[in-house]
Amino acid sequence: MAKKALIFGAGLAGTCLAHRLLSNGIEVKILDQGSNYSSAVAAGMVNPMVFRRMNKSWRLDEFLPEAQAFYLEMERELRTQFYHPIVIRRFFSSDEERESWQSRSEEEAYEPYLAKLTASDLAHTAALNTFGSGRVKNAFWVDAAKWVAQHMAYFNERGVLEQKEFSAQLWEPQLRKYDGETYDFVVFCMGYRQKEEQTFSYLPLQQTKGQTLLIESAQLSETESLNRKCFVLPYGNGRFRVGATYEFNNPTLHVTEAGKEMLLQNLASLGAYEPVVVEQSAGIRPTVLDRRPLMGQHPIHQGVYVFNGLGTKGYMMAPTLARELVAYMLENKPLHSETNISRFADRTR
Ligand SMILES: Cc1cc2nc3c(=O)[nH]c(=O)nc-3n(C[C@H](O)[C@H](O)[C@H](O)COP(=O)(O)OP(=O)(O)OC[C@H]3O[C@@H](n4cnc5c(N)ncnc54)[C@H](O)[C@@H]3O)c2cc1C
Repeated sequence: MAKKALIFGAGLAGTCLAHRLLSNGIEVKILDQGSNYSSAVAAGMVNPMVFRRMNKSWRLDEFLPEAQAFYLEMERELRTQFYHPIVIRRFFSSDEERESWQSRSEEEAYEPYLAKLTASDLAHTAALNTFGSGRVKNAFWVDAAKWVAQHMAYFNERGVLEQKEFSAQLWEPQLRKYDGETYDFVVFCMGYRQKEEQTFSYLPLQQTKGQTLLIESAQLSETESLNRKCFVLPYGNGRFRVGATYEFNNPTLHVTEAGKEMLLQNLASLGAYEPVVVEQSAGIRPTVLDRRPLMGQHPIHQGVYVFNGLGTKGYMMAPTLARELVAYMLENKPLHSETNISRFADRTR
C-alpha cells in the first residue's frame, strides 16, 4: 500500500512538495484554508543576482536550472503557462557599482548571468541617473497568482485538496494523526502563519510584509524588467507590477498610503511619470534572520516535518528544496546543513 502524506498549506512550498511526493508514489492530501497572502501576491521574479553585494544568489547554479526545468514540466502537467524568461536591466547607483559589475562580468562564473556592458547599456536614458545600466541574463518570472489558483483547481479536481482551516483540536502530533486519520508523513507548509501553530512555533520565523502596485505607464520598457530602488515587471498591454516594500515584523494585510507613496517615488527614479495605479496589494513573506529556509523533522515527533522560510527568493529555491526534503523524508538523505532546522535545536530546551 502507498504511504500517505498530509500537507498543511497549498502555497508555493506545499504545492512544490506535493508534486515531489506524488512523483515518488506517495499518496498526498493537502489542507488549505483557501486564501493565500504570499505565493499568490508575489511578483514571482527569479533574479540570479544579489545587487547589493554584486554576488550570485545563494546556491544559484543548483537552484536555477532545476527551477527552470520544474516550471516547464509543471506547464505541461497543468496545461497552462507560468514561466516567462525576462532580461533584468539594473540601473547603477554609483561609479563603484558599475565598476564592480564590470569586473564581475569578466569572471567565468558570472558569464551566464551578467551581460558584458555595451555602449548602449552605459548610455541608457530610461532612468534618471548618470552611471549607466547592465543586463542580467537567465532571469525569469513565474505568474504567481496563476500558480496558486491553477494548483487549487488542479489538486481539487484530483481530490487531493481539502479547503479547511487547520484545527489544533484535531491534531495529535505524537501519533501523526489528524482528524482521526494516521499519516506516514505530516508536513507544515503554512508560510507566515506557521507562528500561530504550536508544533513548530519555536522556530524564529519572521513576518515581512510587502506591498506592490499594478500600474499603467506609457514610458516603461515592455521587454525588460527595470531595477533600481524597486523592480518593474512588464505584464504586457502597458501594465506593470512595481515592488516591493519591506516592512519587518508586520503581519497586517492592508495596503497603506505610505507604501504606495514609497513605491511611486522609487518608480519615478526609473523615469515613469504619472503612472495610473490600477491596483495595490499586500502580502507577507515568511522570512528568517539568517536568510535560510526552515526544513526538517520535528525534534520530538518523528515523521512530522516543516518546509518554510522561503523568504524573498522562494520561486527560485522551492523546486530544489522540495526535492531535497522528500529525499530526506523517504531515503534519509541529509539536508543541506544551512537549511536544516536542527540549527535552532537550542530553542527547544
Ligand atoms: C509582496 C511580495 C512580493 C514577493 N515577490 C517575490 C518574488 O518576486 N520572487 C520570489 O521568489 N518570491 C517573492 N515573494 C516571496 C514568496 O512569495 C514566498 O517566498 C513564498 O511564496 C512563500 O510560500 P509558502 O508556501 O511558504 O507560504 P504561503 O504562500 O503563505 O502559503 C501558505 C499556505 O498555507 C495556508 N495556511 C496557512 N495557515 C493555515 C491554517 N491555519 N489552516 C489552513 N491553511 C493554512 C495558506 O492559506 C497558504 O495558502 C514575495 C512575497 C511578497 C509578500
